[in-house]
Amino acid sequence: MAVLEVLLYPAPILKEVALPAQAGESERVIADLLDTMGSFERCVGIAAPQIGHGVRIAVVDVSEHPKADTSNGLLTLVNPRILEAEGSTVAREGCLSLPDLTANVRRATRIVVGHQSGETECHGFEARAVAHEIDHLDGILFLDRVESLVDDVFRRKSYASDSGSGSSTGSDAGGSSPAERGLGGASSKPSPRGRTG
Ligand code: ZN
Repeated sequence: MAVLEVLLYPAPILKEVALPAQAGESERVIADLLDTMGSFERCVGIAAPQIGHGVRIAVVDVSEHPKADTSNGLLTLVNPRILEAEGSTVAREGCLSLPDLTANVRRATRIVVGHQSGETECHGFEARAVAHEIDHLDGILFLDRVESLVDDVFRRKSYASDSGSGSSTGSDAGGSSPAERGLGGASSKPSPRGRTG
């Protein structure tokens, strides 16, 4: 239906718990999610709050992503909830709503997610992507999950700031290249102060 603007942190809706999706409103939201996800290269998922809909709907498709060993193809998740989770591993994540950052985030390696259309078992990268999107429905961003804001958060280098707003590409939950540096080690310079009263 429409490619919508992806809301960036600190948009308040990103920190809110989304409402259960009611019958009848899902189709339009899903169409908007798919169109918007499709407008970003290598985007593997997006959640309704990111495009301004405060309902519990997300879409995930890791099938084209090189980090995905297994995939259920396009997952349309209406009122999803994690029924089982096991294993634990840390990997890099990105988020369309935090386009300048990536971070090391611990996630389960296998989950079973229940949703309106049944239950789906996800492994590895797909499990990570699904968990990332379900977090969005609970107002949780990946920065809320990092163990150390100093050691585990990285600033993307590749997005030059010379092309204006709205042009950044990103891959929600998709991680990123190693061409990044840690925020911790590089940010020791104190910011200038003194103007504020
Ligand atoms: Zn995200």
